[in-house]
Amino acid sequence: MEYRTLGRTGLRVSAVALGCEGFMEKSAEEVCADFDFAIARGINFVDIYSPNPQLRENIGAALEGRRGNFIIQGHLCTVWEEDQYLRTRDPEKTRASFETQLQQLRTDYLDIGMIHYIDAEEDFRRVFDGEILRHARRLRSEGRIRALGISSHNPKVARMAVESGEVDVVMFSINPAYDLQPAGDDVDALWAEESYARALHNIDPERESLYELCERRGVGIDVMKVYGGGDLLSETNSPFGRALTPVQCLEYALTRPGVAAVMVGCRSRGEIAAALAWCTAPAGERDYAPVLQGLERFTWQGHCMYCGHCAPCTAGIDIAAVNKFYNLTVAEEGLPETVREHYRTLRHHASECVACGACETRCPFGVEIIAAMRRAAERFGY
Ligand code: SF4
Ligand code: SF4
Repeated sequence: MEYRTLGRTGLRVSAVALGCEGFMEKSAEEVCADFDFAIARGINFVDIYSPNPQLRENIGAALEGRRGNFIIQGHLCTVWEEDQYLRTRDPEKTRASFETQLQQLRTDYLDIGMIHYIDAEEDFRRVFDGEILRHARRLRSEGRIRALGISSHNPKVARMAVESGEVDVVMFSINPAYDLQPAGDDVDALWAEESYARALHNIDPERESLYELCERRGVGIDVMKVYGGGDLLSETNSPFGRALTPVQCLEYALTRPGVAAVMVGCRSRGEIAAALAWCTAPAGERDYAPVLQGLERFTWQGHCMYCGHCAPCTAGIDIAAVNKFYNLTVAEEGLPETVREHYRTLRHHASECVACGACETRCPFGVEIIAAMRRAAERFGY
């Protein structure tokens, strides 16, 4: 298992992590067996957005005696009413639901408390200017949540949260299909056919700059909807006309800047294993480029997707990493210290490029890598 630091929280999370939706409708014994299976393979991180009492109690029981070694991301502003999940902005209900959540999970703190599902800018302002944020801050100062985050599908809103300086973590929907869609507050529109008629021909700059902003500011991203609700795994439903594998979907998300973990909703141990296959998959199996490239509609042309397809470099340069660090500096006036430090630790630097051109013939997205190495060498000084 690969462990990554979740931004400035300092938490070391497994890159492959669990969503909670796969545990619905299961018995306590089944949930416990699933956690045994996942933990034995190195998973240490779960997102629990659902307020379903049975689900929370089953997960609480499954983590009994091993809570300290496991990282729980719970959500504020979800309640269970009339046997249903409901999002709320009612401070009283939010307070009560938080207390119940801790009891059900058999714990006295959440490692991360997410303010649940803010997609509309108006909703963001109401939450961040009001009692919900004050409540979240209080919980953090009492140590009952250790870090604060929000979940969102809208890059504009996620950016507002990051720029507020209040959040340490963003849970965001990332997959190559959503990345083609401009920002909006209607999550259902992300997959609507008419949206694809208007879809961008390349990655949406607002999404891309959100990921870069998070990395620069030390805000960790964990990913939801990595399979686009399963549609990307289906040849019929995938907008690329070809199915991606779970490994390719995970690789895409885990190669975006700022991303520490993918929360995969798995209904069975087989599905957990399919996600875990990412950990040991060779580069060829992780490579998502063949699915994205060569489609008339989506060009991605000239745009580094951090896919690593160009490796190996004659001079040993990690080209994807150099491109990523360079891109992280573009929106900034100076050179951010963290980026400069990350660049320094690379074994080989852009200035070592001998302009052999071998990489360019392998890049499926037509990136002019020699020129990119030259630009990076100028920017970083070596
Ligand atoms: S330069 Fe091309 S092949 Fe290399 S990581 Fe970027 S997109 Fe992939
Ligand atoms: S052109 Fe430069 S970056 Fe590309 S393989 Fe050759 S040395 Fe490496």
